Amino acid sequence: MLRGYFLPDVPDAIRDEFVVRGAVQMQHNSRLLFFALFLTTPTGALAAAEGATWWVRYGTPAALAVFCLLGVWSLSRDLRLSTSVRRSRRFVRDATVSSSLIAVSCSAWCVYSWLGAPPEERIYYPIIIALGAFSTAYCLSSARTAAVLNLVINLVPMLVLLYTSGNRMDLAVAVSLSVAALFQLHMVHSHFHTVIDLLTLQRQSRELARTDPLTGLLNRRALLDHALELGSEGPVRLLLVDIDHFKAINDGHGHDMGDEVLKIVAERLARIAEIRASVARIGGEEFALVGHADDLPEALALAILSEIRTAAMPHGRQVTVSVGLADGSASDEADWRQLFNRADSALYAAKGNGRNRLEQASPLPALIAARNAAA
Ligand code: GH3
Ligand code: MG
Ligand code: MG
Repeated sequence: MLRGYFLPDVPDAIRDEFVVRGAVQMQHNSRLLFFALFLTTPTGALAAAEGATWWVRYGTPAALAVFCLLGVWSLSRDLRLSTSVRRSRRFVRDATVSSSLIAVSCSAWCVYSWLGAPPEERIYYPIIIALGAFSTAYCLSSARTAAVLNLVINLVPMLVLLYTSGNRMDLAVAVSLSVAALFQLHMVHSHFHTVIDLLTLQRQSRELARTDPLTGLLNRRALLDHALELGSEGPVRLLLVDIDHFKAINDGHGHDMGDEVLKIVAERLARIAEIRASVARIGGEEFALVGHADDLPEALALAILSEIRTAAMPHGRQVTVSVGLADGSASDEADWRQLFNRADSALYAAKGNGRNRLEQASPLPALIAARNAAA
């Protein structure tokens, strides 16, 4: 239960974005943290207890200073975290291990110093470790495991000393420190949920901006992105599909019925395309499919005609579509516009030639010619 509270699972849909965001923020904050820690290391030598051994007094602060400088140096490089989930995940893991090692050395320094200090000086060590732990937890709040480990490693040994010393002032400090630590853990928890909510919202609005609300298909803008991505790999095929005499459905059965017909046509197109091609609604009763020619063969384009013609429609009438097909390059927006215009001309020809048919921008293969002759 405690693990669920402090380290709840990240929703699958935003897992990668969460890791990248956390890593980028952690890189920035950890650099500042290393630098701040480096500045405080001389006080480590200054504040060590009189009776402390040489390595506790000078060795630990010196090792920490070197470690911090290495940290500042390595975090100042461009680690290209924002472009790779794998790199980000590795970075968060390494940063969690190294911040925990720093916490172990700081905690050990404070415990040894407390044990060796005269009673009137002891109380400084809980203050030093608490302020350090809280600053670190704040900086690491984008990586929950690191933040929680840091608080536990830094504060638990010191709290044990305070609770068990038998001194009433130590007890009072221990209670205050425990309360402050719990609030820090709560802060890490709230920060996590704020980030999850933010990333979920961000993802939803990105999806909304790319989706047609009526049919759930891609919209025109998203289709362009898909086409350009495919176009960077080679020539693409574009099919433009337009419902025949759709206005008559609206006029005869109402706009809502028209919407229902649009949804059914969209669902049939998505089913035919499966995952081989991207399907979009690009206008009122116009749809587009884009993919490589192998994924959108002429036979599939013809199957669209029969699939829609034979689909049961809510107004009880047959619905047909006309299809324009064009092959070409979509390596940039200008190419895409040209391809689109060619497919649109082919669609226009299909309408002019009697509808419920497929026309291709370039000469028709035998299969299509045969189909049109039979139609
Ligand atoms: P054609 O065979 O030449 O394509 O004729 P058509 O009637 O299908 O084409 P036209 O362009 O004349 O009419 C398209 C209609 O689609 C007009 C418009 O009111 C309707 N429309 C556009 N968007 C929507 C929508 O979201 N829902 C509904 N129900 N109708 C829409
Ligand atoms: Mg139409
Ligand atoms: Mg139209």
